Amino acid sequence: MITTDTFFHSVTLDADLCKGCINCIKRCPTQAIRVRNGKASIIKEFCIDCGECIRVCPHHAKKATYDSPDIIEKFEYTVALPAPSFYGQFNNLDDINIILRALKLMGFDDVYEVSGAAEMVSEMSRSYIEQHKDKKPFISSACPSVVRLIRVRFPNLIEHLIPFNAPIDLAASQARKKAMLETGLPSEKIGIIFISPCPAKVTSVYSPIGNDKSEIDGVVAIKDIYTKILPFMKQTQDDTEELSISGKIGISWGGSGGEAGGLLIDNYLAADGIENVIKVLEDLEDQRFSDLDFIELNACSGGCVGGVLQVENPYVAKAKLKRLRKYLPVARTHLRGQVVEKAFWDNEIEYQPVFKLGSNMIESMEMMAKVDDICSRLPGLDCGSCGAPTCKALAEDVVRGVAQEKDCIHLLREYIHKLSDDLNKI
Ligand code: SF4
Ligand code: SF4
Repeated sequence: MITTDTFFHSVTLDADLCKGCINCIKRCPTQAIRVRNGKASIIKEFCIDCGECIRVCPHHAKKATYDSPDIIEKFEYTVALPAPSFYGQFNNLDDINIILRALKLMGFDDVYEVSGAAEMVSEMSRSYIEQHKDKKPFISSACPSVVRLIRVRFPNLIEHLIPFNAPIDLAASQARKKAMLETGLPSEKIGIIFISPCPAKVTSVYSPIGNDKSEIDGVVAIKDIYTKILPFMKQTQDDTEELSISGKIGISWGGSGGEAGGLLIDNYLAADGIENVIKVLEDLEDQRFSDLDFIELNACSGGCVGGVLQVENPYVAKAKLKRLRKYLPVARTHLRGQVVEKAFWDNEIEYQPVFKLGSNMIESMEMMAKVDDICSRLPGLDCGSCGAPTCKALAEDVVRGVAQEKDCIHLLREYIHKLSDDLNKI
């Protein structure tokens, strides 16, 4: 099982593989990467675990940390929570039960579909939006990278986040309740294991936001489970055990636009890919979308199907989900008036001012003046050769005391030319 610290991140660097090529520094949406002394490093406070650096590193030096499938051996009874996007990985799949039965043959004692819990969240969101129209537009809180991004970069938008736990958390608490009831086992002997499409969801389990502790006991990667269950899928073809609890709405959460579609409203926007997400949040801050009811944002292109722990191309996976849901009912998990435990976050999401320079207003203004002064001497090329993503980021690092102006190769060249001229004169 993964051990955690205050700033646990699933995304980490393998320094031995890093060649210092600076490909990753420009693509990080929170400017969390620096390359110094020929090696990259991640500023933990800035990172939102979007996985972008894993996608772009040509040397596979960035990686996601998650649990091994062997984690199921640690518990007396285990329940698998497959993400909806998991179903988009398989060719010619026409019945979700085949996957769910294969998970049981592989070693899990039971399964609880995250897509079933997603249908509950859709139902709760529909009435929440209706009852709180004064707070619209609401922003989905299902993508942990987006929630982290808003927490560090867009504090004014925190109040727009739908305050519900994500479907994986709801699925975990429902699965645990069911397992305890059916087996009579105490909670600690039951392992609730999430099958994840992305590192952000691993981080959301081991370092939760909005909750003191996650109900999930382990997180395994879709790509690891995919290869393990393939041999069992053939064996389940003639089996008739009905395990699936989801319909069209739940399955659709696996791709971009699925969550918004489940609200049964027209007045929504769905954006995917971290750069598009940032653009939408900036426009939202400028109050350009005040007439929208709901905004769905997914850090990965295509939605969860685009997570870096998947095996299939995101757009192919999305097409497979579309085919799979064709003959399903609209929804199969309904609240029917029940009050869902753990529906809301335990704690309010708070602004994390990680990018602030000083500890108070006067100190911040003084430091910002120094940043401006340093920027006036830097070439403004944002070339990345210094190991920081922009000239301003280097200036901020200098003011924070973690870099030097001469890390800029252009300034260094000027300095060397001047030195050589001076020596020549002497
Ligand atoms: S992309 Fe980043 S992590 Fe990968 S080798 Fe280049 S500098 Fe290192
Ligand atoms: S996971 Fe995303 S936020 Fe974190 S270092 Fe990589 S690109 Fe930056």
